[in-house]
Amino acid sequence: MTLPVRTRIAPSPTGAPHVGTAYMALFNLAFARKNEGKMILRIEDTDQCRSTHGSEVAILESLKWLGIEWDEGPDKIGDFGPYRQSERKEIHANHIQILREKGHAYPCFCTANRLKELRSEQMSKKETPRYDGHCLNLTEEEIEKRINDGESFVIRLKVPTEGECCFTDELRGEVKINWNQIDHQVLQKSDGYPTYHLANVVDDHLMNISHVIRGEEWISSTPKHVLLYEYFGWNTPIFAHLPLLRNPDKSKLSKRKNPTGINYYKEAGFLPEVLLNYLGMMGYTLPDQREIFSLEELTQSFDIKRMSLGGPTFDLEKLKWLNGRYLREQLTQDEVVRRMIDWKINSGFMKKIIPHALQRLESFSDFIPLTGFLFQDYPKLERTSLIGKFEASYASKLIKVFEWELEKIKSWNREEICNLFQNLAEKEDKKLKEILPLFFQVITGEHVSLPLFDSIEILGQDLVRIRLRKALDFLTAEGFGISKKGLKSLEKDYRLKYGDRID
Ligand code: GLU
Repeated sequence: MTLPVRTRIAPSPTGAPHVGTAYMALFNLAFARKNEGKMILRIEDTDQCRSTHGSEVAILESLKWLGIEWDEGPDKIGDFGPYRQSERKEIHANHIQILREKGHAYPCFCTANRLKELRSEQMSKKETPRYDGHCLNLTEEEIEKRINDGESFVIRLKVPTEGECCFTDELRGEVKINWNQIDHQVLQKSDGYPTYHLANVVDDHLMNISHVIRGEEWISSTPKHVLLYEYFGWNTPIFAHLPLLRNPDKSKLSKRKNPTGINYYKEAGFLPEVLLNYLGMMGYTLPDQREIFSLEELTQSFDIKRMSLGGPTFDLEKLKWLNGRYLREQLTQDEVVRRMIDWKINSGFMKKIIPHALQRLESFSDFIPLTGFLFQDYPKLERTSLIGKFEASYASKLIKVFEWELEKIKSWNREEICNLFQNLAEKEDKKLKEILPLFFQVITGEHVSLPLFDSIEILGQDLVRIRLRKALDFLTAEGFGISKKGLKSLEKDYRLKYGDRID
């Protein structure tokens, strides 16, 4: 009897919803639907420091905007919940206990300092950094005593010392990795929370996941997972590791080079079905090679073995071209009007703008010239007006620092934006009014427009980020970019003045 197909996506709610999540979700969904199965959405929020509820909400919303639907998840009760890992802590702890009792996992009391020294020693010998098994053979009495004495500890996975792990990947065939490449993975952190590896395997098993379809960055972790399945005495699911999306220079898709947030595409006026079509095109070619296809059409013809293994390049220009084709070929003119209204040409969006625009309006015909930048992806820039009184290279640095600072904003509102600018001026030893004109240009592209902080709030993080990026690109093209070396020293200064960066 073949088991029912159950796939899953397991995003970690640690930031803005990423197009990579949508890419994985799309193929998990197509595979599940094609095989009359189900797709589950599980929130992997075991990293208590980085996970936020806001990020979870945003992930669910942006997937829904794209038309991706799941059958079970935190918002869709099924028989295998809870679907949020933070609500499964006890289940994970019980499974760690099972491993302990079977002798497959052990407490480790090594201090962060010892681990750091070990790591640098191994690195200097050009060895793969991994735990050396220092705490592997402690006696039960010793363990008990140290725990009772209140020593902090983690639980680690025992890994064979010899031989190799062999598993099958649906797309790559047999994969072999030597056990000596595999670390004694921490399964439970000192705060009692499980790590990704333990929680992921336990939950995939308990949720009856038949196919684990995920990004290729997890291949090197799969031996740990295979070992866990073996230790628990469970069958492994079928693994398929999909190639990751790439920037045009073939590096892993990153927000420094491409907008990676799903929300950017919504705000910049792309159709969700086009983004989905484009993501589909990147990993898959329909048998008749057609470029325009719907989720249903992809699903009908879907065969995971036809997924391409080459790193697909996410090319924004190609996406724009495809979006244009859709507008002309797939929608009627009435539909185009309706979709534009849904986007931003509506009273909801106007009401956000009017309080700031009203003071500057004499007749309605002033409205579009005054607020056009709020409807743009990014404005056109001019060198003289952009840098104003600053040295152009200083302008580049200031924009870069602002970009880093922006990542630290917790809630996107006028007050936080205002604080950010004030802090920037203070740290740069400048007056606020000295630095604002540069950012006014970067954001609005105009000499006269709406107030800057309000405009930034209305535009939202994604459209502000692209404007900073475009301004930096513009300055680089004009010969005032930041060199690699310059960036390193800027980062160093930044850390001293502003604290660590968040990415
Ligand atoms: N939580 C992991 C992630 O954020 C899931 C990886 C997997 O699919 O196993 O990518």
